[in-house]
Amino acid sequence: MRSFCALLLVFLLLSFTFAQQKLPTESAMNRFLRYVKIDTQSAEDQPASPSTKKQLDLARLLETELKGLGVQDVRISEVGIVYGMVPGNLADNSKVPTIGFIAHMDTSPAVSGENVNAIIHNNYQGGDIVLPNDKTQVITVALNPDLKNLIGDDIITADGTTLLGSDDKSGIAEIMTMIDILKQNPGIKHGNIAIAFTPDEEVGGPMDQFEIEKWGAKFAYTVDGEHLGDISNETWSARTAFVTFRGRSTHPGTAKGIMINSTYAAGDFLARFPEMVPNRPETTAGREGYIHAATATMSEETSTIRILLRNFDINGLAAQEEAVKKVMAETQKKYPNVKIEYKSELGYLNMKEVLKNYPQLTDFAIEASKRAGVTGALRPIRGGTDGARLTTRGLPTPNLFTGGHNFHGKLEFNSRKGLEKSTETLVHLVQIWAEKGGK
Ligand SMILES: [Zn+2]
Repeated sequence: MRSFCALLLVFLLLSFTFAQQKLPTESAMNRFLRYVKIDTQSAEDQPASPSTKKQLDLARLLETELKGLGVQDVRISEVGIVYGMVPGNLADNSKVPTIGFIAHMDTSPAVSGENVNAIIHNNYQGGDIVLPNDKTQVITVALNPDLKNLIGDDIITADGTTLLGSDDKSGIAEIMTMIDILKQNPGIKHGNIAIAFTPDEEVGGPMDQFEIEKWGAKFAYTVDGEHLGDISNETWSARTAFVTFRGRSTHPGTAKGIMINSTYAAGDFLARFPEMVPNRPETTAGREGYIHAATATMSEETSTIRILLRNFDINGLAAQEEAVKKVMAETQKKYPNVKIEYKSELGYLNMKEVLKNYPQLTDFAIEASKRAGVTGALRPIRGGTDGARLTTRGLPTPNLFTGGHNFHGKLEFNSRKGLEKSTETLVHLVQIWAEKGGK
């Protein structure tokens, strides 16, 4: 009888534990599948913000859904940023800092995001995944060793003709589902939570117009990373260089002795890269920076090459600028009649310079991952984030994982577990801030 009572007690305790957390009204997966259907591809070099109007389709949907979840102060700003505030449920919310969560709405200009046909590979059993509408697009185990951890999971891919948009609709779905879980479970204690969904992250969007003060967060996280557990307090610093070659154009029929064709000089300059610039995207990984001749416009009169400089060491950018100028000097010797000009602009600085003063941001995130059953670890990002620019502006903002893989391409994927574990981590994170983040 006594052992029966003990069993009953265990049973009651267990059912109490399981009953403790109510499910969200909608899974992160379902939300994700709805958001990826909306084409939000951004475009480079547009004067307006957002760079493409279609991003507002998602902004308006999110505005409605946030209001439906009871989020307060929901609005879309002039530049297309969706803001909102989830009020804390502590006896005194002013005792813990307001924490912000940010995800971006746009998808990369590199690959189409129109008519995304998300495919769910239920109960994945291993092996390469061939995308059905373009069989040359294959997610291989060789290049994606993470697949081995996803046996039994439901993997989500595009159909081979578009990107998926996991970057960053995963982040949006996870933040929305976190809000949903908090609403269903008032027993989960948290301080004020500021929410923002941004347009144009992929094209260096409107972070200068992000209303930091009005938004109210003291610290924030972008939810825009990849592998489960990857937490980043470090990006490289970014500068963009423009090398312009000025020749002389004239009608080709009467050009003898007059025309100076700038395209040859631009071509010569580029041809020197493999030898003179050893650190390029295709030759570097980890903490190595690179110099990347990315795009060019060419005509007889004027040719301009846009070059991306990336370096984890802030002082390294200056050395990279010198390296570009050395290549210019060689081309100048060969083409003395072409005028070669150099200019550059700063993109963002390595956020580690600021974040090293706030170790609790990543410590709490690692603890939250652990509570969600994920091994969290710090990993530098070989890319920029909205957080890097906000951190540069004074709002410390590291980056959290979303479970996604292969961003900006047709082989992009995420999984049910990826979305759920990331969501769970966010729910734990706001609790940890309430527990330990007091002033
Ligand atoms: Zn992203």
